Amino acid sequence: MKKYVVALDQGTTSSRAIAFDRNGTSVAGQNKEFPQIFPKPGWVEHNPYDIVNSQTDALRSLLRQSGIKAGEIDSIGITNQRETVVVWNRSTGEPVYNAIVWQCRRTAPLCEELIRNGYSQLIKEKTGLLPDAYFSATKIKWILDNVPGARGLAEKNNLAAGTVDSWLIYNMSKGAVHATDPGNASRTMLFNIRDGCWDEELCDLFGIPMNVLPKVVDSSGVVFNYMLDGASIPVAGIAGDQQAALFGQACFNKGDSKNTYGTGCFILMNTGGEPVYSGGGLLTTVAWRIKGMTEYALEGSVFNAGSAIQWLRDSMGFMETAAQSNEMAMSVDDTGGVYFVPAFTGLGTPYWDMYARGIITGLTRGTTREHIVRAGLEAIAFRSAEVLEVMKEDSGLEIKSLHADGGASENEFLMQFQADILGIDITRPLVRETTALGAAFLAGLASGFWKTRGELAGLIAADRIFRPCCQDKLRLEKLGGWKDAVRRATGK
Ligand code: ADP
Repeated sequence: MKKYVVALDQGTTSSRAIAFDRNGTSVAGQNKEFPQIFPKPGWVEHNPYDIVNSQTDALRSLLRQSGIKAGEIDSIGITNQRETVVVWNRSTGEPVYNAIVWQCRRTAPLCEELIRNGYSQLIKEKTGLLPDAYFSATKIKWILDNVPGARGLAEKNNLAAGTVDSWLIYNMSKGAVHATDPGNASRTMLFNIRDGCWDEELCDLFGIPMNVLPKVVDSSGVVFNYMLDGASIPVAGIAGDQQAALFGQACFNKGDSKNTYGTGCFILMNTGGEPVYSGGGLLTTVAWRIKGMTEYALEGSVFNAGSAIQWLRDSMGFMETAAQSNEMAMSVDDTGGVYFVPAFTGLGTPYWDMYARGIITGLTRGTTREHIVRAGLEAIAFRSAEVLEVMKEDSGLEIKSLHADGGASENEFLMQFQADILGIDITRPLVRETTALGAAFLAGLASGFWKTRGELAGLIAADRIFRPCCQDKLRLEKLGGWKDAVRRATGK
């Protein structure tokens, strides 16, 4: 009777609903885009109703298009754009302001002030994060400080705040449930990742009354029953997008790592039951909490990855489609000594140089577009390797293989080069919607649709495993040339 688990994947530009069968195969999916709002340079907002409506529309159209009946759905898992916040009135359910999106930089001055006043260490110890406008705390504070009446409502216990998962849950439960999972909570800069609860001292620091925050529940467990076409479907999984992808790639053991190759790269490593703190600028975060047991992850990101290929395509006109970069790179033996450091917006881990800018080195009269495109793909692999190197050092864990997903993981040249540079296997799964699959796994594990994590791991089939074949000497030479190019990009 119950044949499917549905994942609701609420992303930054669109909301998706995907149905998975018992084999973990995605059998149908629907996607609804919604508008981005840019009120000022550097500010990014969403209409909170667009978030909810696009998500429920995607779910309804999934049923309509696929013929799947609500009664056939075992459970629902939610995964979401992280850090984005919504603040709403508890009695009316109305948002008091637009959702402030993770990309929004409006609170950067406040974060700089926190750093100047010496709060970085306290924030790192408690939350695993670095003070940055990216995280939710300063966004909630901004709404409380700038929206007339908001603070008054909070004082009367009439205000609710939360990340996108909790906004969806509130609406889908018709205002009955205000909840989030520890993974999403760990991105707010208000959550104590060791104690597993909201932190009073940090809430005081940001002037955020604790009564506005959601209840923190397990990432896998029934939260409420969603009523759809007369059926009552347990919503039983919650995870932020990167955490969900880690789960969807079955990175269940210490040292298991995944890299999502999109506009940027998001690299997460499971570090087991204890948080690992980084000396190299990685974030420490909660991966998930299941049956009360918290597991942690180290997280690193590369700001510009697929965007380098986009730039070569759109601004340089070197190709028509991103996919062509694969054939172009393979049509030459090497880059002819060219290195391309796509530091369009600075360099993150391990350099943390916001002033670095992009550079192409080693140009000769013999340089062709193909060489530069190949250098662009190699750069994605070099940057990812640098983040993984720091992860290895900070965690003391060996990385035996890397699980790849995201748009640019389609690129066979990139995957093979990544294996060569790291000297480990790169596994690309058959089901590429790993974020949605992770949310479905969390829900299906709670409902009993799937029994164990071992069973889940067994459902993931590899599309292809890329094995390293480059000799060590060559690898070191290439990495040496890359480091030299980075030195020039940073001017150091
Ligand atoms: P996001 O979720 O960040 O928008 P996606 O996972 O959809 O990103 O991946 C899109 C990015 O991947 C784009 O920057 C694009 O240039 C790059 N990309 C997509 N396909 C390929 C490919 N075959 N080879 C290299 N890069 C690609």
